[in-house]
Amino acid sequence: MKLNLNIEPLESWIKKGSDPLLIAGPCSAETEEQLVATAHLLAKTGKVSALRAGIWKPRTRPGEFEGIGSIGLKWLQRAKAETGLPTAIEVANAKHVEEALEAGVDILWVGARSTVNPFTVQEIADALKGVDVPVMVKNPVNPDLSLWIGALERINNAGITKLAAIHRGFSSHEKSAFRNEPMWDLAISLKTHAPELPIINDPSHITGNRDLIGYVAQKALDLDMQGLMIESHIDPTVAWTDAKQQVTPAALVEIIEHLALRKPEVRNSEMKDKLAELRTQIDKIDDLVIQKMAERMKIVEQIGTYKKENNVTILQVNRWDEILRKGINYGSALKLSPEFTEKLLELIHAESIRKQTEIMNKPEADLEKLTHA
Ligand code: PEP
Ligand code: MN
Repeated sequence: MKLNLNIEPLESWIKKGSDPLLIAGPCSAETEEQLVATAHLLAKTGKVSALRAGIWKPRTRPGEFEGIGSIGLKWLQRAKAETGLPTAIEVANAKHVEEALEAGVDILWVGARSTVNPFTVQEIADALKGVDVPVMVKNPVNPDLSLWIGALERINNAGITKLAAIHRGFSSHEKSAFRNEPMWDLAISLKTHAPELPIINDPSHITGNRDLIGYVAQKALDLDMQGLMIESHIDPTVAWTDAKQQVTPAALVEIIEHLALRKPEVRNSEMKDKLAELRTQIDKIDDLVIQKMAERMKIVEQIGTYKKENNVTILQVNRWDEILRKGINYGSALKLSPEFTEKLLELIHAESIRKQTEIMNKPEADLEKLTHA
């Protein structure tokens, strides 16, 4: 399902410092000196398109540093006047929006803890009515694509057309090397719903660890995301928030220079031909996979009818364990990762159960039609 968003291209509201598009700056504005000095170092790299800084910080626990507040807007004005960098901050309510606009902040973003709440997003959207300012919407804390889409729609419905999404990863119970699981498939899914919507990756909040930023940033670029937002602090070791994931402006340059930029469009016709040929092969295989799935589901229907006639339960755990075990072993022998095979089989199994449930609950007359069709 394509979304009906009205969007201006990224280039209409942000000037690329270099490739890739980079928004950088400290997690939080802490002091005037820290912010302005960081801004100068970032501007000097020639790679940064906008200066980010948190002025109001949504903190999980009370008592943590909750942002310097409105005074920081003045520091941002100074940083911009001295470096020429446009500024970007998080807004989480109507008052933030008003103050930010008043202070001439160039780009606003909605944070992950706000995107989860439609009331908050609507309040922000209402405050933005009639204003022409770029807005970026971070994904919600929880892996819920609809909430992310809903927030983008609310802001867009308020008339904001300079719109982008920020992919900052999702909370998860799974133990992992990351602070927030990237769940790349959700970002890809957003892209398929709204191909014209720019997505900016935030490897700082995904990794929570400066050593992994380059790795995640590369992956984001390989998936054709349009830019990066990276936290950078003049001295991360003493940062008041997110110290482990911030990098010095010099380290930021290192990270950016090590990224490989792969062009989405193909460069020469020989490459184009080769790609087209390989894609044809893939399309054929996808057709076959779908065809086989349809065949499988027909058999599942027969099984469903049989189980209904003989009063047998739909789910037979032993049988399912057996399918899973055999499938994963077979997949491994063919170099498919066990995680992939398991996910695939689970998806197929869930659809089979759904079909059988449908049959079990169908009145007899309909069933006749179904089995003799
Ligand atoms: C931030 O950008 O500093 C921030 C609070 O991010 P998020 O909303 O992604 O947690
Ligand atoms: Mn942060």
